[in-house]
Amino acid sequence: YASSTEHDVVIIGGGVAGYVAAIKAGQEGLKTACIEKRGTLGGTCLNVGCIPSKSLLNNSHLYHQILHDTQKRGIEVGDVKLNLAQMMKAKDASVESLTKGIEFLFKKNGVDYIKGTGSFINDHEIKVNLLDGGETTLKGKNIIIATGSEATPFPGLKIDEERIVTSTGALSLKEVPKKMPLNLSGQVANFQKASVWSRLGAEVTVVEYLNQIGGPGMDAEISKQAQKILQKQGIKFLTGTKVLSGDDSGSTIALNVEAAKGGKQQTLDADVVLVAIGRRPYTAGLGLENVGLDVDEKGRLVIDQEYRTKKPHIRVIGDCTFGPMLAHKAEEEAVAAIEYITKGYGHVNYAAIPSVMYTHPEVAWVGQNEADVKASGVKYRVGTFPFSANSRAKTNLETEGLVKFISDAETDRILGVHIIGPNAGEMIAEATLAVEYGASSEDVARTCHAHPTLAEAFKEAAMATYSKAIHF
Ligand code: FAD
Repeated sequence: YASSTEHDVVIIGGGVAGYVAAIKAGQEGLKTACIEKRGTLGGTCLNVGCIPSKSLLNNSHLYHQILHDTQKRGIEVGDVKLNLAQMMKAKDASVESLTKGIEFLFKKNGVDYIKGTGSFINDHEIKVNLLDGGETTLKGKNIIIATGSEATPFPGLKIDEERIVTSTGALSLKEVPKKMPLNLSGQVANFQKASVWSRLGAEVTVVEYLNQIGGPGMDAEISKQAQKILQKQGIKFLTGTKVLSGDDSGSTIALNVEAAKGGKQQTLDADVVLVAIGRRPYTAGLGLENVGLDVDEKGRLVIDQEYRTKKPHIRVIGDCTFGPMLAHKAEEEAVAAIEYITKGYGHVNYAAIPSVMYTHPEVAWVGQNEADVKASGVKYRVGTFPFSANSRAKTNLETEGLVKFISDAETDRILGVHIIGPNAGEMIAEATLAVEYGASSEDVARTCHAHPTLAEAFKEAAMATYSKAIHF
């Protein structure tokens, strides 16, 4: 690239936020460049987040099911063995095919992919230290910062990604640990690692500062059920507990914990400790000082409703700014940010962003939980339907969980939907559409759903909100 090549948009970061913005910008006919320092596109999500964890979740579930859940289904199996190296290879292959797929989409949409680290020289110029040596300068009429986030370190535990790991190391362990405490925040993503390693044979203990799992967004009733089900699967929980320190000088790691409100201390033994207390915006080395952009006390780049910083041609999207750190949120913002540039308007409804905890069964929700609705003072109704009364869940022998609707008592407008059960992560799409369209529970209940499907539990919970369910 010639020095000072001018683009309509220069995007720093090729994660979900950055690569989606780049493709959309290319589609809109903008001359676009995307700078990524990792060497592959897709960011945290594709390389060390959503995608590799789903591969391990799916395959560890299959393994666990074959070991423990076949006899009653009339399937006799012989010797079942784990080949962890092959499971990791399958994960790596999925990641590679998806990251390569994005490179292809860049070519298809005329996006210049620049491998290197970008930093601001001034308001419109970005210096790139290229991965294969040398540097170049890009000039952007518009610039989008999409540099993502990184794991928050925990004082007193030194990460080596082998014995004391972040989520990245936890997705690439070379053997199944015997004992594995996880030091968690409310982040639902961490329960994926708890599930994977527990299914593969590790004794997993979750240490959670709050009194409930799943973070403050998860409905308390659903969170309790989830904890009970995961406990039955063998995961141990220490809620309302904080980690004080860790000592990795011995053959096992000693993790000192005590009740969050102060009190009795105890020591947990572990072969591997997963430190996952949250993520923080990543803007290191970006040269923000050369453009004078503001970050708040949490390190998030400050923007207005159109994703503009105080330099209006510089926008910020994804994990490095406000809002939930989720790939689908980043994707929505990417499309909206480009539309603000090309059309002057964009759309993201922050009240309709679903959350999913990819355990088995899954937990998923959209909108407000019951405690939030109660606190808001709005009069509301709740309708629930258990999967134990759903025909498809019964035939599948997967009857744990329920669907819970919360709607406004006066207008019946849906305020929140909370699901724990089989395929909850897929089913929440219907709830999200309903919330986006401002639907009432009656709108959903009067929509014909195919039989026999798990989605009928969704319809019947809606029915139970303003009237009565038929099958319960
Ligand atoms: P990132 O994906 O972090 O991408 C930012 C990119 O910018 C990186 O590739 C980085 O190398 C690059 N970069 C940074 N600085 C520079 C620079 N100066 N120059 C060039 N490049 C730079 N979300 C979900 O919705 N569903 C899930 O199931 C899910 N699972 C997760 C599991 C794990 C283990 C983790 C850690 C996260 C998970 N997430 C999930 C969250 C999701 O990964 C993030 O929300 C998403 O990746 C955010 O996208 P982003 O583009 O803002 O940031």
